[in-house]
Amino acid sequence: MSVPSIELNDGNKMPQVGFGLWKVDNATCADQVYEAIKTGYRLFDGACDYGNEVECGAGIARAIKDGLVQRSDLFITSKLWNSFHDAEQVEPITRKQLADWGIDYFDLYLIHFPVAIKYVAPEVRYPPGWYVDDAGTQIEHSKASLESTWKAVEQLKKKGLAKSVGVSNYTGALLLDLFTYAEITPAVLQIEHHPYFTQENLVKLAKERGIAITAYSSFGPASFIECDMKVAADTQPLLQHDLITGIADKHGKSAAQVLLRWATQRGLAVIPKSNDKKRLAQNLDVTSFDLAEDEIQKISDLNINLKFNVPTNYGIPCYVFA
Ligand code: NAD
Repeated sequence: MSVPSIELNDGNKMPQVGFGLWKVDNATCADQVYEAIKTGYRLFDGACDYGNEVECGAGIARAIKDGLVQRSDLFITSKLWNSFHDAEQVEPITRKQLADWGIDYFDLYLIHFPVAIKYVAPEVRYPPGWYVDDAGTQIEHSKASLESTWKAVEQLKKKGLAKSVGVSNYTGALLLDLFTYAEITPAVLQIEHHPYFTQENLVKLAKERGIAITAYSSFGPASFIECDMKVAADTQPLLQHDLITGIADKHGKSAAQVLLRWATQRGLAVIPKSNDKKRLAQNLDVTSFDLAEDEIQKISDLNINLKFNVPTNYGIPCYVFA
């Protein structure tokens, strides 16, 4: 299956559909990554915080060894965790993450969240999570400004440790601020984006500035029900929503494919996750059919500005999106 690429503002190319690695179990992760490569996935969206970078790398190494792909066929994304925002921590942790994957560059490296928390050494706890203490009771912030962190991330691109660099979970205000100091404009903005949370003006701003958008949690509440999040359980599932299933039936596609196509047809990249072979193939086939303009509009009209991925929704007292 051929997946189109998005040309980034630094000249690199990013596949429009990828495989998301959050909540992929360590025990099955290498096999899942291998299977995804066999199915045709070339983009893998990882992060320090997902705690499975070693296993992701093992799956990739096996696929390369078996001759399925070469490293240059793949687009590997990772992210800087909040506790490594202090400028002097950025390069060492990136090098550790590269070593975990068993590769010597990331295709894309993102600031995961616009919040700096106190450094915890990898030897002490890894991935460190949100809390400074092992018991998980206290959040302590670091004094690193987002400007200082972005400048350190720019160095990763200059040194070839990341071919492209970007940000995740940034708002319009944070992007506008970043434009005042950035030497390198982010190539990608990764954000929560589904019909209940469309962030139209943020999408507009990124487009105006030539920043590609990757949508995460494209199925809305589905991902957060797995995390026992009350607001997700209390929200009508998108995958079973009459509007979405009606459009899906009309096109002979699944509800998941309609939700992903709603994003890709509007120029966004998507990174769904599934450990089911049939769904894995389905989720990759989301650029080969077209929705009607009025169908896209009706889906967009479901927006209720409902963001699920907020620390406080997990009981974590970090007010980054307050
Ligand atoms: P997702 O939207 O991909 O949904 C996953 C859920 O949908 C799972 O329960 C899965 O079983 C189900 N599903 C997948 N395919 C399906 C299909 N075809 N039919 C029916 N159900 C299906 O959720 P996500 O994992 O939250 O987001 C995708 C990726 O985005 C993550 O794995 C991660 O890489 C990235 N992400 C990034 C951030 C960030 O802060 N930058 C936050 C969340 C997720």
